[in-house]
Amino acid sequence: MPVLIPNQGNPLMTLGEYDISHPYTATLISSERITPKTEAEVRHLVFQLPDDAGFDFLEGQSIAVLAPGPHEFGNRQHIRLYSIASTRRGDAAQPGAISICVRRCFYIDDVSGERYPGKASNYLCDAVPGGRIQIAGPYGAHFLMPADDSRNLLMVGVGTGIAPFRAFIKHIYDEIGGWEGKVRLYYGARSGMEMLYRNDLNRDLGLFYDERSFQAFEAVSARPYFDETSTLDRLLVEHQVEVWEMISDPKTYVYIAGLHEAARKFEKAMIAMAGSKQAWSDKQKQLIEEKRYAELLY
Ligand SMILES: Cc1cc2nc3c(=O)[nH]c(=O)nc-3n(C[C@H](O)[C@H](O)[C@H](O)COP(=O)(O)OP(=O)(O)OC[C@H]3O[C@@H](n4cnc5c(N)ncnc54)[C@H](O)[C@@H]3O)c2cc1C
Repeated sequence: MPVLIPNQGNPLMTLGEYDISHPYTATLISSERITPKTEAEVRHLVFQLPDDAGFDFLEGQSIAVLAPGPHEFGNRQHIRLYSIASTRRGDAAQPGAISICVRRCFYIDDVSGERYPGKASNYLCDAVPGGRIQIAGPYGAHFLMPADDSRNLLMVGVGTGIAPFRAFIKHIYDEIGGWEGKVRLYYGARSGMEMLYRNDLNRDLGLFYDERSFQAFEAVSARPYFDETSTLDRLLVEHQVEVWEMISDPKTYVYIAGLHEAARKFEKAMIAMAGSKQAWSDKQKQLIEEKRYAELLY
């Protein structure tokens, strides 16, 4: 196992700085759509690594997917990162099985106005079981859980940002068997059916809602068809007594994951709770210095 120190590492690396010189060939075992056809497509993909791969990862880390070319500008591979959604013991406790959750992305060309499919996400969402995919990693030692179970975990995310938290929660309750500190998840999505691992198609995380130390709170957009992800900031403010108590407790670790909007909404709520932008900035600086604040944003 690699020696990894919780909340250490550099979250600000650019894609070109990731070492992809030792890729692994993983075989896709399953690809399950976890949002209904009426919503944006998100898939839960499970890959099997070869027995002798030695690809050891921890909850909170990410992998690179190397989508084969040819691509524009002569790139042989198109490289994108994805958060690992499974635990160190493997997806569904299957050794060597690693999972990710991928949103099929499209973007609009500013000049032509044409809609283009995102390369890596479409490559992954179109892949069929049995297919072989090159991955590299794992990366992201800055987003690991503390080892001490008396610590509180405050997890805030939107959309596919749920992936590392699925891994945390499964590791805590399925593998460790519980957690002394508070485990809180504040999660935003555009609609109830876009709540990943908590909708009619996949209820994976619902299994843990009865755990004594775990509570999850969900926010959906007031205007789901306007591309607004959620009212996550309002949800946090509604629970401000506990949230601020946790933020002020030196035993709390804060994790923010998903689109940058997750961090913007979290900041908005924190400024309201701290009383001013400066007061929150000072508090956040302290959390960062004490290595109790980690972001995984894209
Ligand atoms: C550390 C890290 C972890 C990540 N984890 C995940 C993950 O668990 N699941 C996941 O789906 N993505 C994740 N991403 C985003 C992922 O790496 C890609 O950026 C995304 O899949 C688009 O790549 P692409 O090749 O399909 O699109 P490209 O061909 O590179 O086109 C990118 C276009 O897609 C848009 N876009 C990118 N990401 C998203 C998104 N999540 N939702 C909506 N629009 C988007 C961009 O605005 C841009 O217009 C992560 C990124 C980082 C840096």
